[in-house]
Amino acid sequence: MLIDNLKIVQENVQKTVHKCNRDLSELRIIAVSKTNPVEKIFEAIKAGVVDFGENKAIEFRDKSELIKLNVVWHFIGHLQTNKVKYLINKVDFIHSVESFKLAKEINKQAKQVNKIQNIFFEVNTSGEDSKFGLKNYDELFELTSKCEDLQNIKPVGLMTMASYTNNENILRSSFSQLRELRDKLNNKFMFIKELSMGMTNDYTIAIEEGATMLRIGTAIFGNRNISKSWSEK
Ligand SMILES: *Cc1c(COP(=O)(O)O)cnc(C)c1O
Repeated sequence: MLIDNLKIVQENVQKTVHKCNRDLSELRIIAVSKTNPVEKIFEAIKAGVVDFGENKAIEFRDKSELIKLNVVWHFIGHLQTNKVKYLINKVDFIHSVESFKLAKEINKQAKQVNKIQNIFFEVNTSGEDSKFGLKNYDELFELTSKCEDLQNIKPVGLMTMASYTNNENILRSSFSQLRELRDKLNNKFMFIKELSMGMTNDYTIAIEEGATMLRIGTAIFGNRNISKSWSEK
């Protein structure tokens, strides 16, 4: 049951927060609802979930149109410039900005709908070629500097995906890298504060390393059935 899964996640988060002397109020749990039908989202809303994450632009548009309740929407997937238009009206945070081209397009579309769009810069901390994101401090510095001229986006922090592994050292190293990059960048750009990191497999380690937004799918919604689209379920 979703509500039981949620309780387990919340308890693990609480325990970990306590263990590393952090405050629960510093953390947001984003329920990653991708591939799940809207009924599941309604179930989660009933159970008290406020933040939802999706990773496909069209799926995001279609689901968010069906949900009129007040939720906070996060877009966490790779985003092409020609798909920004599907998100811009509803999305609260875009976690996956990795180029100036994309930042400019988001800025342009945000301006048209008269909003200031919160964004994260995605960083590739795992070194895996299959993952997106900026590679180092210099790239981040350059992109953040360029974005200062864009009035309709608001960079709030950094996002990363760790490798899919059970090796704690590898996971921890991804997350501590992101924290160190944030700390360094924050000296110059005070608005870069948030750390979007930690998924089902690694969220307790991410909390220990300073995560402020966890993106948790499987542990809340169960295994994803990818043989059918969300609308057929
Ligand atoms: C799917 C996804 C998640 C959640 O993954 P789980 O392992 O199911 O918790 C988090 N972040 C991103 C970017 C994702 O695509």
